[in-house]
Parts: sequence; C-alpha cells; structure tokens
Amino acid sequence: MERPNSERIHKEALEHIVGGVNSPSRSYKAVGGGAPVVMERGLGAYFWDVDGNQYIDYLAAYGPIITGHAHPHITNAIKKAAETGVLYGTPTSHEVKFAKMLKEAIPSLDKVRFVNSGTEAVMTTIRVARAYTGRDKIIKFAGCYHGHSDLVLVAAGSGPSTLGIPDSAGVPKSIAQEVITVPFNDIEPFREALSKWGDEIAAVLVEPIVGNFGIVEPKPGFLEQVNDLTHQAGALVIYDEVITAFRFMYGGAQDLLGVKPDLTAFGKIIGGGLPIGAYGGSAAIMETVAPLGPAYQAGTMAGNPASILSGIACLEVLKQDGVYEYLDQLGALLEKGISESAKKHDIPITINRLKGALTVYFSTEKIVNYEQAENTDGEMFARFFKLMLNQGINLAPSKYEAWFITIAHTEEDIEATLHAVDNAFYSLANE
Ligand code: PMP
Repeated sequence: MERPNSERIHKEALEHIVGGVNSPSRSYKAVGGGAPVVMERGLGAYFWDVDGNQYIDYLAAYGPIITGHAHPHITNAIKKAAETGVLYGTPTSHEVKFAKMLKEAIPSLDKVRFVNSGTEAVMTTIRVARAYTGRDKIIKFAGCYHGHSDLVLVAAGSGPSTLGIPDSAGVPKSIAQEVITVPFNDIEPFREALSKWGDEIAAVLVEPIVGNFGIVEPKPGFLEQVNDLTHQAGALVIYDEVITAFRFMYGGAQDLLGVKPDLTAFGKIIGGGLPIGAYGGSAAIMETVAPLGPAYQAGTMAGNPASILSGIACLEVLKQDGVYEYLDQLGALLEKGISESAKKHDIPITINRLKGALTVYFSTEKIVNYEQAENTDGEMFARFFKLMLNQGINLAPSKYEAWFITIAHTEEDIEATLHAVDNAFYSLANE
C-alpha cells in the first residue's frame, strides 16, 4: 500500500508541530517509526487516508468513536449546535439534561461537573479528594494512564513500597513524592502501602477495568478489597472511567462489576467524539467544589453546547436495545478467528477481551498486570501492526492498546479483518 501523501504531509508536519503529532501516541515511534497515516475522512467503521487508501478502523480515536465515524444522529446534534452557537459561557438546559442522563446510568453520581478532557476530570477528582480529606498523597496502579497532569505522570519507585519518581521531565520530585504506585490485581503491596502511609492517603485512583496496558479485568474480589481497605484508611476511592464508562454496558464499569467508588472521572465516549470530561460523586464530596466549597475548578469551554449535545446524542444511540450484545457478538467472532489463526500458524498470542474491546498480546501468558504486558513481544507486535496496516486495517500503534469494535462494524468487516490477520500471522511465521 503506497502512502506518498501521508509521507509528504508528515514531513511537513515535523517542521511545524512538535514530533509531527498532537499526541505522542499517534506517532509510530513504538512500532519502529515511519510516517503515521494521515487520515482524510471517516465514515462508520472506515477511514480513507490522503492517498485514497481505505481502512477498517479499530482505533476508534482511542475509544470515543464507539458509534463509528460520523454517526448521523451525532452529526445532526453537532450541526444543531453549530447553528445555535457553540459556546455561551452561561448555563444551558442541555447540561442539566446530560447530567441527569449520566446520573440515571451511573447510580454512584449525585452531582457532576463537566470539564474538557479526561486529564482534567482525573486531575480534579484528585484535588477534590484532597480537599475533602485534608490529605495529600494518592495511590495508583502501575501501567494505568490517567492523563498528563503532574500527579499521575509518576512511576513506581524501586520497590513495591516506595514513594514515586517522576515519569516525565517537568514533574517536580516533590509532587512525585505524593504518589505511591503499586501493581494491579495484587492486594498485598496495596495493603502494605496503606499500612505505611494510610493516614496520609487522600485517594486511591483505579481504572476498574484497565484499558491502558491492554484490556485487563480485575481479579474477583480485588476491587472490593481495594474499596474496603481504602475506606478503612479514611481515604476515597476514585474510579477513572475515562475509557470504561459506556464501553461495556450503558453505565460504568462500576455498574457492570457491582462496585461503588466515591468519585468517578469520565471522558472519551461521553462526548460522542467532541472534547469532554466530567467528574462526579456523592453530594457531600462534590460540595467541596467551588462555588459551594473551597476546591477550585473552572473552565471557559466546560459544558459547551457542542460537546454536550454530541454527548447526549451518543448516549441516546448507545441506550438502544442490543448495542452491547452486538459489540460482544462481533468481539467474540474476532477473538475466535484471531485465536484460530494464531494456532494454525503457531504464533504465540494471548487475547484479553471484554465485549467489543480486546487486546492481542504476543505472549502465551495470561496478562493480569503491567509487568506482564511490558514483557510481551513488542517487536513482533510492531511487525504485525505494519502487516495489518498495509492490508487496510487501522490498529493503535502500540502493544498496550485495545482494538475497539464500533456499532458500525459488520460481520463482513470482521471476516475481512480475520483474513488480514491470517495473512499477517503467515508472514510472521514465515519471514
Ligand atoms: N484516563 C484514562 C483511563 C485514559 O485512557 C485517558 C486517555 N487515554 C485519560 C484519562 C486522559 O484523557 P484525555 O486524553 O481526554 O485527557
């Protein structure tokens, strides 16, 4: 597949946009480099690039595009917003309608606040938890990405029970010292961290189903134990549902799993593809936020009518009967086909799948934590990624990401994808 226009545009982009991309995950650095495909048009499950090549898309813009590109119901909502003014700086009735929709879907929410990104949502939940508890430290789990605010760009120290170290230049060491990182799905290091710093911990930040080192479900009882131990220590549980909310059911992962956090952060799907974030929780905790309380958070763009109307339209589509069953059905078909093909060509893979989201790891070990995900074969993934791309299948350029099926995908798309997978595995086995 030739892509001269992508290459030309990327070369030009490198002169004007740092790294040629507006988010590092869009570069092909993790898959051996090269010009990322420059897309021109998306419709349903498909993309067309600037060279006229067509792709079946499983990136779904890193998650938000669960309805497929340019879904007509969402497109109409965005058109309406464009015609009636996209930004008011005043309250609107749309915000109230959307807040009610979120609350109806996710019972742990009494009060919400809309912001503009997942990063902002998570950052603010941490501030609120600190304001509410009067404590400073947080615990997070290794390999979970929570946006790019200072506090969550912190990696584990050298042992399971040490304070964090900055994961990015520009994050002060003093801030990293407020963060403790422990492995996911392992309660003992978590218990140890709480017994060491319990009375300093404001909150524990959790992706209830991990999306950022592939799709990784919590072991039975893990989240319940995290909740109990956190509350015993007088700290709050924050769920980062930026990826998971409305991904697996109409509601949060918390509703799927029957666990309840004190605060939740949202993003991605709830904007229907436009920029959004939101956070919420019990009234008592949320009333710490200005103008009611001392924790400050504000936003010129927050709750803008375009994002809100797009989000409402997206949830209306997802609320229809059979949506998540359909995603599950296609997911199962894809998983089965990939597994069979891998067996046929003797390619060592393991798949984690929940409904319409799955990760193919080049490893034979069942992946339940970040260390294992890190140890999967990145080089083989990079070859696989390029083999798929050149057959018109657009995956995320990282071994840690998920494939996201949308409601626009069809069984024929899955069959075509499986044909490409079979060819790619043949090449991996024989070249
Ligand atoms: N939390 C999680 C779990 C995420 O996956 C992401 C983004 N991938 C974020 C937070 C940050 O969201 P945003 O990119 O909208 O700032």
